[in-house]
Amino acid sequence: MTRIFSGIKPTGHLTLGNYLGAVRRWAEVDQHRADALFSIVDLHALTVEHDPARVRRLSRQAATLMLAAGLDPARCTVFVQSHVGAHTRLSYLLECTATDGELRRMIQYKEKSVRAKAAGQSVRVSLLTYPALMAADILAYRTDEVPVGDDQTQHVELTRDLAERFNLRYGPTFTVPRATNPPVAARVMDLQDPSSKMGKSHESGAGIIYLLDEMDVVRRKVMRAVTDSGREVEYDPVAKPGVANLLEILSACGGGNPSELAGVYESYGSLKQDTAEAVVELLRPVRARHAELAADPGHVDKVLKEGAERAREMARPVVDAAYEAVGLLPAG
Ligand code: ATP
Ligand code: MG
Repeated sequence: MTRIFSGIKPTGHLTLGNYLGAVRRWAEVDQHRADALFSIVDLHALTVEHDPARVRRLSRQAATLMLAAGLDPARCTVFVQSHVGAHTRLSYLLECTATDGELRRMIQYKEKSVRAKAAGQSVRVSLLTYPALMAADILAYRTDEVPVGDDQTQHVELTRDLAERFNLRYGPTFTVPRATNPPVAARVMDLQDPSSKMGKSHESGAGIIYLLDEMDVVRRKVMRAVTDSGREVEYDPVAKPGVANLLEILSACGGGNPSELAGVYESYGSLKQDTAEAVVELLRPVRARHAELAADPGHVDKVLKEGAERAREMARPVVDAAYEAVGLLPAG
């Protein structure tokens, strides 16, 4: 059976981008067709300046939202990365496989280190080595597929390179995974700045739709989205990135392809109105289910505990094999 792994960082409140690019597909498609693991990858949240209490709160909130979005613990494994020691154990071997040059080439490292410096913060070494830990997250489970938004494709490519290099040097140990992206809304853009991705850790919330935003706030954010010059509603991501983003969101919410949808609208205003309503309706059941689950944190904790137990069992033999392959003496 196909093995799937994917994760989300507790670096901020989950956004519409996280939902359309990742979580919705995990719930609607992936958990039904494969043996799937979904992780709150909390160690990755420590690569930038963080508030301990906030990370803890956001970790539980992310888990609750993942369940609210429809992940079913009877069908898939939901767990917290730091609960499974195999990830950091394997990460070290992958740091010994990756090169300094290839880690420095990662776009996310470049972007996030620039952002840290601009905020007067120093750049943590873990921001550079992050992709080795992410590769460990994936390779520890002999993962075949990694469903992610477009922005993570480069990291999955690096994971493939590391797996191939390791296998070549030390003998077949890892499955070489591949990234899969959603057909539409693989990169939801910030509503106030359609040249940059909607990211949960970004400063300004005005262009970011959070899954737990009040309905009126969602409507207001969509209605105030930056659109482009001209009046014609066309699907042209280069010339009209703001309009294209709205069309992609609308398409992801309700079906239909963005170019066809463009033909339906006479004005930016009516496109925004329909997009706002479509997003509100999309999020309504997730919010309702979140409210129910949030009232019972004991249930969420139990799911995470059982998930971690299952994940530990799956990862242990793979990581043991990797330790032996590189020449470390078995602990006995
Ligand atoms: P951060 O700003 O901390 O990097 P993020 O919003 O990018 O947060 P991640 O935890 O890095 O979220 O990614 C979780 C998943 O959501 C990944 O599969 C990622 O590709 C996807 N994702 C993130 N942002 C978007 C987006 N704007 N559009 C589509 N998918 C996205
Ligand atoms: Mg990200």
